[in-house]
Amino acid sequence: WDEQTYLPAGGAEHRAAQLEMLAKLTHERRTDPRIGELLDTAADGEWSADPAAPEAVNVREWRRSYDRATKLPASLVAELARLESQAQHQWMEARRRSDFSIFRPFLAKMIELKRQEADAVGYKAARYDALLDQYEPGATSASLTELFAKLRADLVPLVQAIAEAPKKPDDSVLQRHYPVDRQQHFAEMAAAAVGFDFTKGRLDVAAHPFCSSVGPADCRLTTRYNPRDFIEAFFGVMHETGHGLYEQGLDRDFFGTPMGEAVSLGVHESQSRLWENTVGRSLAFWEFFLPLARGVFPQALGDVGVEEFHQAVNTVKPSLIRVEADESTYNLHVLVRFELEQALLAGDLAVDDVPTAWNQKYRDYLGLTPPDDAQGCLQDIHWSCGLVGYFPTYTIGNMLAAQFTNKADEELGGLSALVRRGDFRPLLDWLRTKIHRHGMRYYSADLVRRIDGGEPDHRPLVAELRAKYAPIYGLYYAGMDVSI
Ligand code: ZN
Repeated sequence: WDEQTYLPAGGAEHRAAQLEMLAKLTHERRTDPRIGELLDTAADGEWSADPAAPEAVNVREWRRSYDRATKLPASLVAELARLESQAQHQWMEARRRSDFSIFRPFLAKMIELKRQEADAVGYKAARYDALLDQYEPGATSASLTELFAKLRADLVPLVQAIAEAPKKPDDSVLQRHYPVDRQQHFAEMAAAAVGFDFTKGRLDVAAHPFCSSVGPADCRLTTRYNPRDFIEAFFGVMHETGHGLYEQGLDRDFFGTPMGEAVSLGVHESQSRLWENTVGRSLAFWEFFLPLARGVFPQALGDVGVEEFHQAVNTVKPSLIRVEADESTYNLHVLVRFELEQALLAGDLAVDDVPTAWNQKYRDYLGLTPPDDAQGCLQDIHWSCGLVGYFPTYTIGNMLAAQFTNKADEELGGLSALVRRGDFRPLLDWLRTKIHRHGMRYYSADLVRRIDGGEPDHRPLVAELRAKYAPIYGLYYAGMDVSI
């Protein structure tokens, strides 16, 4: 958090050396053979009879992380750490100059080391699974490939229909003047209204928005402000607030153990997307918040009606950049990366061919061709940091958010009525009970089974997007139902 907010540039080198030392010490302790002995002893404890008991969950997860850490040769861990710091630097330079050839040898080396990592850890069906497992325990590339293919088959025509729709919302209202201090005030008010506890958290400015937990009652959010743009900071804060509500909802009594930690990146992202998009971009939300927003921004919003504003914040514009993507195109950006990184690991795609393959997929899925690699395959930091197998968790999160919302809507007797009167407590309590307080007890697919009785499913997300965009863009779908 400090590195991203207040650390002076000159302090970065010393901080990097400190982090390297910490990483080395952590790895030494994490792989101490005494941990293995203690885990062997613990395996026979009486609690092992109930796999959902907190002790059993903790032992299971400590075993999982110990096994992974001890399977990795220390030389590979050190080599990866060195490469990550070099590759990030080279990636920045490559992106600045929009020159893939600068990053190419580092990406090639990264893929080679990630293959070694996967082989050392072991896997049943696909190498990719050994990497995916760190971010989304229990998920496999085979199940995601099948699920994502169905999602893609529904999303590509939706995005195309929106692009060709004669009816277009006017979002110019969002580019009026929004003074930064007022944006901050309004974003904090909204975060607090949906349940973020500012006595146990704060909001600061950083170049890249994130949520970071420093301790059990210390959750830090960041955002960035642009006085000519309402969307970026507000929905950025709603997104990070969703992450923060999950962190604040974890059971404090289990802090420092897996029972007190978020279960996966996909589930984490489901919470951020739920508050940012499903709640934050709903008509009901703006029926409650627009009158308050008019009070804060009388000049920009004095003459704006709620329907007009709701349509403006739901404008779809297929773009080249993932982090700027709207709700309907976002998952297509993720699918491009998921397919390419699987092909790279499997050896079906040569690193030299990444820019061509990237651009082809953007044409096929989004109908756009990146004019250069900076706006194409060099836009994301992930691969340079060794985060291979991470991207699919964004889309898992979007799908889970829709599934969870449907169930909450059913069990709470209609979310729109609650949201419309600014009563967010029932939804937050529902999420706390069903998801947050379980920590790492249930992996994402198990959580879905327990909550809605089914499997992870793309259909609720597609239905939600169609229901939202049909009236805005004048589209029609048979059997369409509108939730919030
Ligand atoms: Zn997020």
